[in-house]
Amino acid sequence: MIKTGLCGLTADEIYDLIEPMGYLYLHAVSISNSIYKKSISDIHEFQKIPLKLKEKLVEFASSGIYFPLNLEVSADESVKYLFRTEDGKEFETIYIPDDKRNTVCVSTQSGCRMGCSFCVTGRYGFRGNLTAGEIVNQIIALPDADKVTHVVFMGMGEPMDNLENVIKACKIITAEWGIAISSRNVTVSTVGIIPAVDQFLKRSDCNLTLSLYSPFPEERREIVPAETQYPVQGIIDTMKNFRIKKGRRLSVAYIMIKDINDTDNHLKGLISILQGSQIRVNLLSYHPDRNDKKCSSSAERMHFFKHNLIVSGISASIRKSRGTDISAACGLLASGLKL
Ligand code: SF4
Repeated sequence: MIKTGLCGLTADEIYDLIEPMGYLYLHAVSISNSIYKKSISDIHEFQKIPLKLKEKLVEFASSGIYFPLNLEVSADESVKYLFRTEDGKEFETIYIPDDKRNTVCVSTQSGCRMGCSFCVTGRYGFRGNLTAGEIVNQIIALPDADKVTHVVFMGMGEPMDNLENVIKACKIITAEWGIAISSRNVTVSTVGIIPAVDQFLKRSDCNLTLSLYSPFPEERREIVPAETQYPVQGIIDTMKNFRIKKGRRLSVAYIMIKDINDTDNHLKGLISILQGSQIRVNLLSYHPDRNDKKCSSSAERMHFFKHNLIVSGISASIRKSRGTDISAACGLLASGLKL
């Protein structure tokens, strides 16, 4: 008999399972607290529920929590974990400790079907979507789960290509009965699948960041094939036209590649598509894979972009890279998996 995994269910869904047995909503909340806040993988150890309920639960359910198979630690203390689902899909998760801010970068798919030219995950191919439980498990199954303050959906996969599971995972991560991390500290990245972006903006309170690469459609298309179907201007307009609640962040991630997308013309293009919006820009270094002759823009050039964006009324910051020595940086996930 295949047992129901509880990790990935909402408190309401857990209640639907136990209510016919005569148990209360507060018992469902105790179960979700045991899973999402305490990372308890053995149902017998669940807290604040009757022994009889535990005995009934084990007959048809499992916690659904499973642990990483492997880990690599970076010189900067970031840790890359390898997970494998029961049906054999592999994916990676990064834990990035930084003083009081500890971030987990989760995957949403095993591989990816977007095929962005610079990205190792894209070359790994598509092996399948991760369920909401498999996404949430990447946080609660880590040794430092209780220290996590921020979550970014920037690992393997395109989150908007797995929208329902991503929205449900965001709900579990931010709910009081769930992990209870503020939605202001949860950011989902996308290459911009417009209908899904529109749905995500309406149905979730979490932050959204667009991976841009170039403000020019022809050039972006060569790096991000999704540009053909979902042009950058349409994505930016969708983000611009959405009335955002106070504290929610919409941003653009701009990976800077020397002499490729860091010219004065690119800066002008960036300013032109973003001016007058509340979209901020995060400038990131480029991390070449083996045999890649391209390299990152210099620190001076990145500061030049930042300064000019700010002077033009666009919020901008430079994000530092973490975990590059263990291939845990942007675009490098899956480089340790079998291609
Ligand atoms: S950059 Fe993101 S969307 Fe593009 S192939 Fe890589 S994982 Fe997929």
